[in-house]
Amino acid sequence: MRFQIRILLLFGALWPAFAAHAQQPKPKVTNVIYMIGDGMGLAHVSAALIDRGYAPLAMERAPFIGLAKTFSASHKVTDSAAAGTALATGHKTANGMIGVDPQDHPLETLLEQARDRGLATGLVVTCYIAQATPAAFMAHRRSRSDLQGIAADLVASGTDVFIGGGMLHFTQREDGRDLVAELEQKGYAIARDMDQVMAFRGRKLAGILAPGDLPSMADGRGDYLPRATGKALELLSAASPQGFFIMVEGSQIDHQSHANDAGGTIAEVLDFDEAVGVAFDFADTHPGTLVIVTADHETGGLTVPGAKNDKGAEYKFSTGGHTGILVPVFAYGTGAQHFTGVFDNTDLPRIIRQLLGF
Ligand code: MG
Ligand code: ZN
Repeated sequence: MRFQIRILLLFGALWPAFAAHAQQPKPKVTNVIYMIGDGMGLAHVSAALIDRGYAPLAMERAPFIGLAKTFSASHKVTDSAAAGTALATGHKTANGMIGVDPQDHPLETLLEQARDRGLATGLVVTCYIAQATPAAFMAHRRSRSDLQGIAADLVASGTDVFIGGGMLHFTQREDGRDLVAELEQKGYAIARDMDQVMAFRGRKLAGILAPGDLPSMADGRGDYLPRATGKALELLSAASPQGFFIMVEGSQIDHQSHANDAGGTIAEVLDFDEAVGVAFDFADTHPGTLVIVTADHETGGLTVPGAKNDKGAEYKFSTGGHTGILVPVFAYGTGAQHFTGVFDNTDLPRIIRQLLGF
């Protein structure tokens, strides 16, 4: 009897603390900045770090780190279409397929789910906007090469802010549609250069700044990606009190690595890292913002062996294609603590969805 009373007293003494803990609201994620370095493996991050004499990268600010498996439903080594689909929807598909399962059934994307719940939505890339990675967030096509179909899906998606290249897929079309005119009819402002992007005030912005890809860093793209990222965050955070979802891609890390160009690859990684810094700074001043930085796959089989004749390092590629190695996941801001461990790429959107309460 006395023992039972003691237990009750003990439990009574602990109850307020226990109840307070149980009732403590989980910090709610309202904004998601999903950053994808296309082809960016750990060796890419390492090479960028070595190249700048170990001055810390923005990515290093991330307090929670994971690794992600990238294989697709059809191949041990994925392409950007299947990997983008996995990161956008939480489902594996076959290489080449965009926002659909291997049987060509459409898969709902994070961007579409955010849109349907009243969040503002955005895409910022350095390639043409119908390319596989952004396409996986707003298009549903059997083939990544259906670029005109993907551009039409983007117009239909209602994505609030998109900035990249690829004007050809909007205006030089086999079906005769003028997608720029259609965007204007839907209330979009069309920006054709960065001055027009930066001057824009409002909700619906289509920044289509080149016929195809934007220039590479080596060809003088300059600070486009960090600036476009910052502008998109400003527009989206003003657009909806419910929050926003944006995907930002360092698209051309992949291109330079396919070309086995170490200097070009490093320049693209450092540019992407500048945009990561912009996103982390935004998260610092906007509670409820989660930033995930990852890659769709590694490109080039980059390695960093020691130099033979001095104490330096070399950059060597082992393939002109993609590889199947794990890719890094850097998490920052509200909810970031959920992103430690070894994941499948499909886990990332599933966790993001849970944190957003979808
Ligand atoms: Mg890409
Ligand atoms: Zn590639």
